[in-house]
Amino acid sequence: MPPPGGPMGRGYLTEEEKANRPKVTAALLKRIFSYLTPYWPQLLLALGCIAVSSVLNLLPSVLTGRILDDGLIGRDLRMLVLLILLSLGVTLGANLIGVAESYLNNWIAQHITYDMRNSMYRHLQQMSQRFFTASSQGDIITRMTSDIDGVQRVIASTFTTILSNAITLIAALVLMYRENWVLATVGVLVVPLFVIPTRFAGRTRWELTREAQACNDEINGILNETMSVSGQLLVKLFGREEREYQKYEDANRRMIRLNIRESMAGRWFFVVISTFSSVGPMLLYLVGGILMMRYDANLSVGDVTVMVALLGRLYGPVNTLLNIQVEWIRSMALFTRIFEYFDMPVEVQEPRFPKKPWRVDGSVEFRHVDFSYDVERQILHDVSFRLEAGRSVAIVGPSGSGKSTIINLIPRLYDVTGGTVAFCGVDVRDLPLKALRSNIGIVSQETYLFNGTIRENLLYAKPNATEAELIDACQKANIYDFIQRQELGFDALVGNRGLKLSGGEKQRLSIARVLLKDPALLIFDEATASLDSISENKIQEAIDPIIDQRTSILIAHRLSTILAADEILVVKDGRIVERGVHADLVKAGGTYTELYETQFRRALDTE
Ligand code: ATP
Repeated sequence: MPPPGGPMGRGYLTEEEKANRPKVTAALLKRIFSYLTPYWPQLLLALGCIAVSSVLNLLPSVLTGRILDDGLIGRDLRMLVLLILLSLGVTLGANLIGVAESYLNNWIAQHITYDMRNSMYRHLQQMSQRFFTASSQGDIITRMTSDIDGVQRVIASTFTTILSNAITLIAALVLMYRENWVLATVGVLVVPLFVIPTRFAGRTRWELTREAQACNDEINGILNETMSVSGQLLVKLFGREEREYQKYEDANRRMIRLNIRESMAGRWFFVVISTFSSVGPMLLYLVGGILMMRYDANLSVGDVTVMVALLGRLYGPVNTLLNIQVEWIRSMALFTRIFEYFDMPVEVQEPRFPKKPWRVDGSVEFRHVDFSYDVERQILHDVSFRLEAGRSVAIVGPSGSGKSTIINLIPRLYDVTGGTVAFCGVDVRDLPLKALRSNIGIVSQETYLFNGTIRENLLYAKPNATEAELIDACQKANIYDFIQRQELGFDALVGNRGLKLSGGEKQRLSIARVLLKDPALLIFDEATASLDSISENKIQEAIDPIIDQRTSILIAHRLSTILAADEILVVKDGRIVERGVHADLVKAGGTYTELYETQFRRALDTE
């Protein structure tokens, strides 16, 4: 008999779970089962194993009757030994099948989670930057790990538990009714006597445990606050010793009361349940005896014993199936959470009918582009400009004016909300994403390097690059000297456990990475963080010849970078307010002049 409030003690929903109870629809179930369908042969085998082992597990109970009637009462030793061996064999067989069943369950569950994880990862990779800026990384990781682990648990245990218990229950009922319908009905009627107090006990214990947990948290809180150096200082200086003691003593007292109630709830209900659970068999013996003695029914001692044994097999499944509803709701909530992620639309879609540019030259054209990250605020308004192949443009403007937003639209990190962005003469939405992005190289302000070696970070751009190519790119990016100075050279580790790179070194390394990629269009988002002038010069030396040779867009904060560009676009509040060359713009007396006076010139003075 399961102990009261044992494993099933957890089987109640919290208020939060009740409030967020998912809607179980046919569509949801169909979707869940669609994950099972690729594994239908294994599933069928597992179901077979569950069915056979559940039924086999009941057989020893039935054989007990024969052991009594044919073996013991019939005084047939051969038969007795045979039946005992059969009973043992059946138990062994059921257990062996149980092993196969759990292997199959785990195999299926692991494969389904493998599929789910992979397709979720693929799906998330396709999400636009909007998704990653809007959702917390923790949430993404939870869904990828613990939620999907939960699904695995559901498939490996919840589904099987439901099935095996349902089969055991049905098989036990069929066997009982076949044996004797009167006794079977008496048996069924006493089941609630056992089940109801068990559930009641479980619920009480569960509530007490939760209360005790809350109380324990409170005690820990008090200890944390008052048993620290600063906490004690505060207590002493404000003379709060007595009050703190009272608080602690109060929580402590509540705690012991709860603990005593919890253990006693278990004990009292155990008495009740034990009594009730023996009422069932006793009642069956009584009714069986009356039927045998008074009504001369065709009933043997063995038959009555079988009924009692089978009755014992009813309690477990009934209880589990009643509790499984909670597991079921939790499982459905898990699936719903995961499907929510799967259902998030892929905003930046591959074109249905991709076009090819007739020449990949890196040219860019914005035609009346509007853009907003969310419905509340439009960020870009009617932005139009043209960047011819081989030329360069500098984008300048106050912080938050929309410079980075403009460049985000070119590799389709986001899609425009109005107008068109064309790359090499083709609307970016008509180019295959891979082709588009492989022809654009971005050196961003916040250089992201993976936690690996310098070489690994460089090869990320071109996995098959030769040593000579690596050296060449690093020389052009002005970082080769630095790499040579490292003991391990290209194999020196970057990131938290390896060598620490300065902002300037990181940016030069990412310039080398982009050079290896050799894109048709180079976008350089200059770091606003102040680098020392030596670092700045090194970056400048690296970037100047590159800009000369290819189509480039520079988000510029320094005059030297601005001067290197063929044209300057001045952005303010998401609009291009001025455009031209430095000399003309300075004279114009507009936003650029203001920026020049406040930002560029001052930077120049400090150099
Ligand atoms: P800075 O020079 O400081 O980098 P910027 O000119 O590049 O600024 P953007 O980063 O393009 O400016 O930002 C333009 C506006 O869009 C800002 O007001 C910013 O708050 C807003 N913005 C930027 N990214 C997002 C986002 N993911 N979601 C919502 N709003 C955003």
